[in-house]
Amino acid sequence: MKFRAAYAVLLLLAIPWVAWNGLTSQINAAALDLLMRLRGTAESPSAEGIVLVAIDDATARRYGPLPLERRLLAEGLERLAEAKPRVVALDVLLAEPEDPEAEARIAKALGMVPGVVAAAIENDPAARPRWIDPLPELAAAARVGHAHADPDPDGVVRSVLLAKAAEGRRRWALALEAAALALDAERPVETTGEIRLGSIRIPAPAAEHRLLRIDYAGPEGTFRRVSFASLLDGSADPAWFRGKAVIVGATAQGAGDRHFTPVSAGIGMSGIEIHANILRTILDEAFLRPLPPAWELGLYLVVAAACVAAVMRFRGLALAGALAGVLAAVPAACYAALLDGSLWPPASMTAVFLLSAGLAGAGEYASLHWAWRRSEQKRREYAFRVQAIAHEIKNPLAAIQGSSEMIEDESLPPETRHQMAGLIHKESKRLAALIRTFLDVERMASGTLRIEKRPVELSGLCREVVERARLYAARKKTAIEMEAPAMEIAADPDLLGFAIYNLLTNAVKYSPRRSTVRLAVRDTGGGVAISVTDQGYGIAREEQQKIFERFYRLKRDEKGAEEGTGIGLALVKEIATQHGGRIEVESSPGAGSRFTLVLPKS
Ligand code: ADP
Repeated sequence: MKFRAAYAVLLLLAIPWVAWNGLTSQINAAALDLLMRLRGTAESPSAEGIVLVAIDDATARRYGPLPLERRLLAEGLERLAEAKPRVVALDVLLAEPEDPEAEARIAKALGMVPGVVAAAIENDPAARPRWIDPLPELAAAARVGHAHADPDPDGVVRSVLLAKAAEGRRRWALALEAAALALDAERPVETTGEIRLGSIRIPAPAAEHRLLRIDYAGPEGTFRRVSFASLLDGSADPAWFRGKAVIVGATAQGAGDRHFTPVSAGIGMSGIEIHANILRTILDEAFLRPLPPAWELGLYLVVAAACVAAVMRFRGLALAGALAGVLAAVPAACYAALLDGSLWPPASMTAVFLLSAGLAGAGEYASLHWAWRRSEQKRREYAFRVQAIAHEIKNPLAAIQGSSEMIEDESLPPETRHQMAGLIHKESKRLAALIRTFLDVERMASGTLRIEKRPVELSGLCREVVERARLYAARKKTAIEMEAPAMEIAADPDLLGFAIYNLLTNAVKYSPRRSTVRLAVRDTGGGVAISVTDQGYGIAREEQQKIFERFYRLKRDEKGAEEGTGIGLALVKEIATQHGGRIEVESSPGAGSRFTLVLPKS
């Protein structure tokens, strides 16, 4: 149990450590990319209303190398404006004047429709960030939005900063401005937690620098795409653009405007397709929300609890199956959450799974090992006890055996045979009493013995026990004195007799020859104190509690002259406790010992 508790604490401490770190958050992002790819093309009501006009390789082949001549750009945009689209977003940076006439035409075309034109922030690490603005006439004719994508450290564009600032000026993202125009909304309205666009509330808190996670509708090609060349050669049908949000920009290989995205690992996606995805995220209100930290922690605890429950409940194949189930549930749950617009962290959850399964397994192993060791110790104790019993019954058995053989001899005088019969009878009774006591002790140790108290006359019991102990003491010529006033208490006479006998024989065993042992019974008012005092070797202070442990013997006595098993005092203590009393010891080395049984009268 204590192992399990320790491992549980360890687990709780380690969860945040494995779940929230740089490595797992990176893998989380990559794993979510995978799930997004697995989803394929998302349902997108607004995708129909978005059209991309690509200044592509076909355009470059037919109308000269990129950047496209401004005259041609003006011509295409004029055609587009005539088709009456809902919005035109021009993702082409026109910052330097080249061809005033063409630029005036572009401004005019953009002015005919709700338009947005791209700005950028100069990306020179050596200099302070600076806006690269579109030409003033363009900025006057259309809204200006920044066209930056914001790659994560691994180079994948998963989100966009809806607002960017440089030189004290802030601009909204191109796609956000396009969304505002498409919705006929005024400028976006900010609160600390979100950006409002008409009735749409975009969860882009100021604390996260107005970061919006892009819910990619699908791989490149999800949105309808028309080559700019088809605007120039007149093959494009104006109906394709009417009422649509049109994003114009370069996609040609040489244009360089490509980024890795979750749905286009390895090949990248063109800038205008990314803008289209931002636009559709806003218009569809397909906002991807990361889990609040408290929920995240809750999720980890659920995973950990599932692992721990599986490890504790199952074994073998069933356990492997249960753990595999938990492991498989992680990506499944993350996928379901993604479909619901919630970003659950697959890698962190898997890390928590591995940690929990590992620690729960280790905890379970330690706990089983501990239980095994305890049962092994119990088994050894049991074996000891059996040995002790065997030893105790050997003597009376030998006497019975010897006498019963001799009694057969008919030449023996009748009185000798009579004596032997008496001995057999006495020893077999002793044997029966011994076995009964051992069985009681056995049941007491296993907790199944309920002692049965009945009135016992103490001085009588003591006399009887001292009689028996004197036979034992005779071999060391030890004297046993007794002082026990007549008194009645409620006790189990057999067990109490066993306890006193044990204290007396110990006193004899652990004293030199020819010494004196005293048994004294004293009325303490509410109870009785039965003490056995010897003039023996004594017991050091630090050992005085240990001798009541099972199988504990003093070093001195382990190889000493006296045999012993080290369970006697443990049983005496148990008997005292069962009677609602206690055992005390006072002793010091060389000065003898006094053991006192303190028992209640009833
Ligand atoms: P055993 O006598 O079979 O070894 P006990 O549980 O009765 O086992 O006693 C435990 C140990 O306590 C003994 O081995 C001995 O070292 C010590 N001990 C017990 N009684 C006395 C005593 N009266 N004087 C000194 N040492 C004692």
